Amino acid sequence: MKIIDVHTHAFPDNIAAKAVRQLAAKTGPYRPLTDGTVSGLLASMDAAGITSAFLLNVATRPGQADAIKAWSGRIASDRIIPAGSIHPDSSGWRSELAGFKAAGMRAVKFHPMYQGFSVDEPRMLPVYEAIRDAGMFAVFHSGYDIVFPGDRRSSPDKFGPVLKALPGIKIVLAHFGGWSDWEAVLEHVCGRDVFIETSFIREVPAALRDRIFSAHDRNRFLFGSDCPWGGQAEQVRFIESLKSINDDFKEGIFHRNASLL
Ligand SMILES: [Zn+2]
Repeated sequence: MKIIDVHTHAFPDNIAAKAVRQLAAKTGPYRPLTDGTVSGLLASMDAAGITSAFLLNVATRPGQADAIKAWSGRIASDRIIPAGSIHPDSSGWRSELAGFKAAGMRAVKFHPMYQGFSVDEPRMLPVYEAIRDAGMFAVFHSGYDIVFPGDRRSSPDKFGPVLKALPGIKIVLAHFGGWSDWEAVLEHVCGRDVFIETSFIREVPAALRDRIFSAHDRNRFLFGSDCPWGGQAEQVRFIESLKSINDDFKEGIFHRNASLL
């Protein structure tokens, strides 16, 4: 079966080892499962039977968009689909977004903790609106992050006001809608027109996981691994093994729903 992974990471070859080492110093039990390069990611995809993957870049400072766009252009392929990133403090974000769009990129990744903003800050609404109007979609880190314990800037309750203010916007919430905040996912995410990506699904208590599956539109789940921080093969196998959703539901997760992005 075709499998699309909407959440992976890799870095340019010359900085991959250092980037992964620096990140891994803060991720506790989550050890990197690739060497951080694109070829490492492709090897992991091959082993897991994954057809294609969105590679999510994060601009941690203003002024990184050109480098992200240039590298993305070099690595983009049938299998690797790089996403752009906008830093909220970048005064040139409109032209950065236009550049991503012109380069054929379809998504923009946000990580509020690494980028220093809260999802529902008013200054972000024009940015989200421009993404919607460009026909692109936004991927957010959602919920807890092991590097930023206690930080609520990307918690599941923050997305409702954005979805309400911008009808038609396509948003993907990583980590099953909100890492470690599964009750809040049920309360604030399920039933809204927003995509839930499955990375770290193995950590969700089974009863809550199944409540989330039944409380949300089955066409709004997407497979994501957060590779190299989550194993692709393990997460594919885990979803395949689930008894509470049928094969058609799984096919939607693995590839069909991604065509709605
Ligand atoms: Zn990630």
